Amino acid sequence: MEIIKTEKLKQEVPDHFSPSRLGWILACPLRARYENPANAGYYGAGGKNFPAMLGNVVHQVLEQSNFGKINSQEDFERYWNGYEEKQLPSGLMGKVKNYGKIRYFTAKQAVKPLVSRFGTGGAKPVRIEKTLLDRDTGIKGRPDLVVFKGGVPVEVKDYKSGALFERPLGGSDELGYDLLRLEYRQQLLSYALLVYSEYQVFPQTLSIVGVDGEEVSSSFRLEELNEWKGRVLKLKEDVSSLPGQELAIPGADNCRHCVYKPGCEFAVQDTGYHFRDFRGIIKEVVLPAFGNFILILEDGCRVFCRNITDREDIVLLEPGAAVYLTNLYPLEKQPGFLVFSAYSRVFVSADGQSTSTRSI
Ligand code: SF4
Repeated sequence: MEIIKTEKLKQEVPDHFSPSRLGWILACPLRARYENPANAGYYGAGGKNFPAMLGNVVHQVLEQSNFGKINSQEDFERYWNGYEEKQLPSGLMGKVKNYGKIRYFTAKQAVKPLVSRFGTGGAKPVRIEKTLLDRDTGIKGRPDLVVFKGGVPVEVKDYKSGALFERPLGGSDELGYDLLRLEYRQQLLSYALLVYSEYQVFPQTLSIVGVDGEEVSSSFRLEELNEWKGRVLKLKEDVSSLPGQELAIPGADNCRHCVYKPGCEFAVQDTGYHFRDFRGIIKEVVLPAFGNFILILEDGCRVFCRNITDREDIVLLEPGAAVYLTNLYPLEKQPGFLVFSAYSRVFVSADGQSTSTRSI
């Protein structure tokens, strides 16, 4: 359970869009205004995004492998440990789900001979050193890897540490492209646009590589790219001109896992989810015994937490503090009594304001 002190959300018009965030932003364009450094605290862990850090380690290790630097398990260990330490000196083990699995499969993939990944047909992996920008859409980023043949870019490869598919492969699909997670497909199209902005050539193949080495490739289609570009251009226009309430797309699916939910005035509660969120003012903090505590809110709601003593941030939970509590288990037999889960967070409003949350 994490206790996070948050300021009021600040809105800013972004000067660019990251390919890896675009799909998430399109689902609710208001997120584009919230994605600025002033709101980083909403991500918790002191603004640190541990899964993203592990993703960086995987990318960096596979990058070295693609350039022939990793030829043994020892090479892998050396690069992995070095990059992980740079991300977080104390390491990421225990901080990210599936850490061991991701490390194991990355090693398996990284030590694979180069020729089995790029063939013998003259394909050459090239690291794009600089960040590329498409001025029209404002998309800015760097593809993980571009494969060149005869001096022109022919393929974009993007590495992912999460699941690649929306649903299991099966039937007579064409290379599974339609089944790729939507945001991954959109990311590949953004990279194709960036490659064109730099080389004035579109890559012919767009590929996603999973952490276990699974690779999903499909042909580039110009009409699909044009459709995607149109969507991003409209997003760019909307985000710079519309008021927040016209950008927000509140809903159970959108708001359930949105990091900005605790401070977003448009957020809605998801009553169909097995966890509950609560907003309120702390009336009392009761410390019964054994490091447990019970938070009593002004509306009478009671929230129980086990074993959290020896924490300095507990002083933030003082009577009168406005809080937003996430992912609580309701106890069916005791209405008004809830228990913190392993995924719970307590957001303490720095300005003491508690805004109402609409129900759906
Ligand atoms: S909480 Fe909901 S409405 Fe607010 S930014 Fe997130 S998804 Fe959009």
